[in-house]
Amino acid sequence: MPTVKAYAATSATEPLVPATIERRDVGPKDVLIAIRYAGICHSDIHTVRGEWGPITYPQVVGHEIVGEVVEVGSDVTTYQAGDRVGVGCMVNSCRECENCRAGLEQYCLNGNVGTYAGVDRDGTITQGGYSTHIVVDQDFVLRVPEAIPYEAAAPLLCAGITTYSPLAHWNAGPGKRVAVVGMGGLGHMAVKIAAAMGAEVTVLSRTLAKQDDGLAYGAKEYFSTDDATTFEKLANHFDLIINTVSAPLDVDAYLRLLRLDGTMVNVGAPPEPLPVTMFTLFGNRRSYAGSSIGGIAETQEMLDFCAERGVAPETELISADQINEAYERVMSSDVRYRFVIDTATL
Ligand SMILES: [Zn+2]
Ligand SMILES: [Zn+2]
Repeated sequence: MPTVKAYAATSATEPLVPATIERRDVGPKDVLIAIRYAGICHSDIHTVRGEWGPITYPQVVGHEIVGEVVEVGSDVTTYQAGDRVGVGCMVNSCRECENCRAGLEQYCLNGNVGTYAGVDRDGTITQGGYSTHIVVDQDFVLRVPEAIPYEAAAPLLCAGITTYSPLAHWNAGPGKRVAVVGMGGLGHMAVKIAAAMGAEVTVLSRTLAKQDDGLAYGAKEYFSTDDATTFEKLANHFDLIINTVSAPLDVDAYLRLLRLDGTMVNVGAPPEPLPVTMFTLFGNRRSYAGSSIGGIAETQEMLDFCAERGVAPETELISADQINEAYERVMSSDVRYRFVIDTATL
């Protein structure tokens, strides 16, 4: 088993530290990837701090991974050494349930295997992308088109697909009015992708601090949700609302912004249940939905779409010794818009 360099959490409360971890030997269907860049996702922080339940330490997180193929197993047909590839939020699934067979591995009825803090098929705990190398089954490896700048490709593997999937599923496109709630890592991607799909995009953010960015990324309008008149002006207006905020908010107030058959989709995950008034849903036959990342085929579709349309996340490159500071800055929304770790510094 090869030993590789990484940055790991050793407890829920200590800062992350340099570490070494073992990767499995390359099996017949495996791909060994030399990781170049790894994005920092809010989920990484929740996970290492035990906020989504207890985990086993040491734990390496990171599920926005890009790098190059170094070695492939004897049965690997789709990749070869030197290929530019990515790994997102999952590294395996049962492949047999109806959702897997439909290409929706993220909804595997037997539970997909998360890229980190999951139980791998050999019983070990999966370790994520804040490391120099990873071994992944070829079916869960994505091809990263050359047209996407290398470090910018990393956040597409979680933030990109998390927003692309609901936008595609609910048919964002020409003639559709799409609102994006929140202008963080997910929100700025939702704006860029929805605009590239041809939708009319509006940002709903607490303040107007990022208005110039939102408009530059393709939004037509930008409103402050602290301003009560926003909710009057935009009543019965949107076909689709993508809510990227993971803090509690007044769901009814946002649902009332949906026109006939409009849908509000949460991709942010507030820790507590949110109340919804049925009469708000009755009006305009509105829907309130959730969406989780995307399947492997759809993730590839998203990467190809972004390459073709020139869509890329805004990133801030950091070295490994800045990870803990970056976590604090993510917690205080002080990042425009996604930190990416240069794994050469591990
Ligand atoms: Zn993520
Ligand atoms: Zn399955």
